[in-house]
Amino acid sequence: MIGIAILGATGSIGVSTLDVLSRYPDEYRVVALTAYRDARRLFEQCVQHRPDYAVLVNEEAATEFARWLEDSDLPTELLTGAQNLEKVAALASVDYVMAAIVGAAGLLPTLSAARAGKRILLANKESLVMSGKILLDEVRANDAELLPIDSEHNAIFQCLPSNFNKGLEQTGVTNILLTASGGPFRKLSLDQLQNVTPEQACAHPTWDMGRKISVDSATMMNKGLEVIEACWLFNTTTDKVQVVLHPQSVVHSMVQYADGSVLAQLGNPDMRTPIAHALAWPQRIDSGVKPLDIFTVARLDFEEPDIERFRCLGLAYQAMQRGGTAPTILNAANEVAVDSFLHNELSFVKIAEVIEACLDAVDIRDADELDSILDADRKAREKAMQIITAMNH
Ligand code: NDP
Ligand code: MG
Repeated sequence: MIGIAILGATGSIGVSTLDVLSRYPDEYRVVALTAYRDARRLFEQCVQHRPDYAVLVNEEAATEFARWLEDSDLPTELLTGAQNLEKVAALASVDYVMAAIVGAAGLLPTLSAARAGKRILLANKESLVMSGKILLDEVRANDAELLPIDSEHNAIFQCLPSNFNKGLEQTGVTNILLTASGGPFRKLSLDQLQNVTPEQACAHPTWDMGRKISVDSATMMNKGLEVIEACWLFNTTTDKVQVVLHPQSVVHSMVQYADGSVLAQLGNPDMRTPIAHALAWPQRIDSGVKPLDIFTVARLDFEEPDIERFRCLGLAYQAMQRGGTAPTILNAANEVAVDSFLHNELSFVKIAEVIEACLDAVDIRDADELDSILDADRKAREKAMQIITAMNH
C-alpha cells in the first residue's frame, strides 16, 4: 500500500484527491490529512478515510476537533500548529505527499517532503514561484520526485520527451504553449473591470477552484505564476513559454517541436485527471472523469492575450526575467492584494498596481538561501499592506 499525506485536504484539490483515492482503497492508504481551520470538513474526511494523523493549524479549530475525536472510535492523532505540517510531510509511513495548501504557507511543508525524498504531487505553485531553485535542489539532492498537478504543467509533462531534464533544446523542443481560459472577465472593457466584485471574480467559467486561485485566474496572475512554474519545472526560460488564450479549457497546454510537431493534452476541465495521472504515473488509472466528447466540444479557439488588460501577466514575466527574489516579492504582494480584494478593501484593477509598486519598493536579492526568500516574503507583505493602506486614505 502506498501511504499518502494530503496537505490542504479540505480545499478544492484536497477534495478531488480524496475522491480519486476513494476508488482505490487497496492501493493507497491515507496517512495524514491537514487543514487550516475547517475542522468540520476535516473531521468528516477523517471518518471516511481513518488517517493516522490530522493536522489543524488553527488552535481554536483544533479544540473543537478534539472534542469530536474523543467521542469517536477514530485511530487518528490530532496535531496542531504549522510545524506539524512539515512533520507529517516527512513521516516514514508516507510515500506520496499531495501539496495542496494555498499560497506561501505551502512552501515549508513542501520543502520538508522534498528533504524526506517523497513523491510530491505539486498543486501549490506558489512554493515554486517563491523558491524554485531551492525546492528543485532539495528534490534532486534527496531523490524525491516532483510531479505537476497544475493542469497545464501536467499536460506539458505528458507531452514532453522523458529526458526533458537535459534541457528542452537538446531534446528537440522549441517552445511551450501554455493555455489560459482568460477567466470570467476576458470580454470586459478596462472600464467595466473597475467595479467587479469578489463573487464575480470567483465564478470561473470552466473550472471550480478555491477563492484565491479564482481571483488569480481573473487577473491572469495565475497564468503569470504558471509561466514561472513552467520555467522551473521544465528547466527553461520565459522566452520559451508562450501564453495562449483558449476559452474552452479543453486543450490543457501544448509542446512545440523542432520538426514542426505540436503535441497537446486534451480532456474535460476536471482536476481529477492530473491528480490520477500523478498518483499512478507511469501507469494510468480511472480518475472518475467523464470521457471527453470531442463532438460536444466541436470547436477549439485560440487567441493571443492582451497584456495591457492583464497587467499581472506582464509583471510575472518581468519578475522571472529579473530573477533573484523578484518572483517571491511578486507572489507575496499578490497574496496580500488578493486577500484585500476578497475582503472588499481593494478594487480589482488595483491588484496589479499594488504588485507593481511593491516590486519597485522592495530590494531584490539573490534567492539561493531560504532565509533570503522568507525575508523577501515578509518585507513584500509589509510593503503591500502599507501601499494598500495608503491607497485607501
Ligand atoms: P482552497 O482554498 O480550496 O484550499 C486550500 C487548502 O489549504 C485548504 O485545505 C485550507 O484549509 C488550507 N490552507 C489555507 N491556508 C493555510 C495555511 N496558512 N496553512 C495551512 N493550510 C492552509 O485552494 P485550492 O485547492 O483551490 O488550491 C490549492 C493549491 O492548488 C493552490 O496553490 C492553487 O494555486 C493550486 N491549484 C489549484 C487548482 C484548482 O483547481 N483548485 C488548479 C491548479 C492549482 P481550510 O479549508 O481549513 O482553510
Ligand atoms: Mg493551472
